[in-house]
Amino acid sequence: MRTLIKNAHILTMNPDLDEYEQGWIMLEGKFISGLGTGEYSDLTKPVDTVIDADGDLVMPGMVNTHCHMSMTMFRGLGEDVDDRLFRYILPLEREAVTPEVVRVGAQLAALEMLLGGVTTTADMYYFEQEVGRVLDVAGLRGVVGQSLADFDPPDHKNFDEGFALVDALRDEFHGHERITVSIAPHAPYSTGPKIMERVAQYASDNPDVRIQMHLAEMKSEMAWCAKNHNCRPVELADRAGLLQPGAIMAHCLELTPDEIEILSERGITVAHNARSNAKAGRGIAPVEAMREKGLAVGLATDGPMSGNTLDIFAQMAPASMFAKLLGGSRGCLPAREIVKMATLEGAKVLGLDEKTGSLEVGKCADLIRVSTRAPHMTPVYDIYAALVFSANASDVGDVMINGDWVVRDGSVLTLDQSKVVSDAAQVVDQFRQIIQKIDVAKAR
Ligand SMILES: [Zn+2]
Repeated sequence: MRTLIKNAHILTMNPDLDEYEQGWIMLEGKFISGLGTGEYSDLTKPVDTVIDADGDLVMPGMVNTHCHMSMTMFRGLGEDVDDRLFRYILPLEREAVTPEVVRVGAQLAALEMLLGGVTTTADMYYFEQEVGRVLDVAGLRGVVGQSLADFDPPDHKNFDEGFALVDALRDEFHGHERITVSIAPHAPYSTGPKIMERVAQYASDNPDVRIQMHLAEMKSEMAWCAKNHNCRPVELADRAGLLQPGAIMAHCLELTPDEIEILSERGITVAHNARSNAKAGRGIAPVEAMREKGLAVGLATDGPMSGNTLDIFAQMAPASMFAKLLGGSRGCLPAREIVKMATLEGAKVLGLDEKTGSLEVGKCADLIRVSTRAPHMTPVYDIYAALVFSANASDVGDVMINGDWVVRDGSVLTLDQSKVVSDAAQVVDQFRQIIQKIDVAKAR
């Protein structure tokens, strides 16, 4: 099956950042087999389908490097309540988060991401096999991580049970063409050095299982580490052997220049959650300093409880603005660099840059069509600036992953949107009853 998209503004996001203002791209099965400027002129091979993009932008799909998809069910809950984690989230997770709830939450997240042009995501949560199955059906590409934590999570009573869940996830998705498995110790303070060592050993024994963890995220984590281990989280993780090449560390706000050097030497990659970090008042990650030392840094939404949206377009402007605030100049982290972080560099963070993240011959056909016709997108002097500061997720019309259309004309083809939304409403009804009980008990 050969599909030609012609009359497109092609943003390749390849390492040379080639751009064809009037170009074409040929898709053959799951792969990109050619692309160029002007008219496609090779008439020696037949073309099955021709799509006229009518001047729209065609670019690689967005990569979300850190997410907790199923937490869509918690979006907007207790926003202004200081102790919402202990008051609502942890009790709700213990009492009501089941494989079914994880499935429904992940389906809702998949819809939102697909409609916003996200073609690849990393995820870490509980009952992660369910999330993997949702990615499989939705047609998304992703890295699924079974979380391990000591705060009595809903799917494991102890770490032995947690590791058994990682085994099950690995066995189910081993060799899947779109899904990579990972092991996700929640954070240093919720696992501890012994478990981090065990995770490091697990990852060494299973080279196809990547590590994902929250690291150097907040002041309380720094204080915990100083008090209990007389060091900082990067050192604790390094001592445990956890800083293995390709391990994905989310947040990385609290870093010294020496620690950035260590992360770079170890081959760590970083998921930058600009919006969720700002919303929690935590600070600004030293993105430019990390990238200067050669660390790959991708954009991420974080879970929808922390960041509310799974839209990568909505991360781009804040990521740029916060870097400008930190550096005190309009010139910091230019728009072009932000679009790189949302695409090819994000794919590198997840170890998937050989397959996705740019439009190049031989790579998987993961692409999106973005309209630049709306009033808020007019005019376009610089396409990168337009994407970072003007575009919305709703400008995405079509999405292809691995050569399959998953969104056409703003409709998801792989999931039943109205059924997912009504299933989600049922879960929320259940959550509301528990929330009411919690509030009544608290008021007594
Ligand atoms: Zn997170």
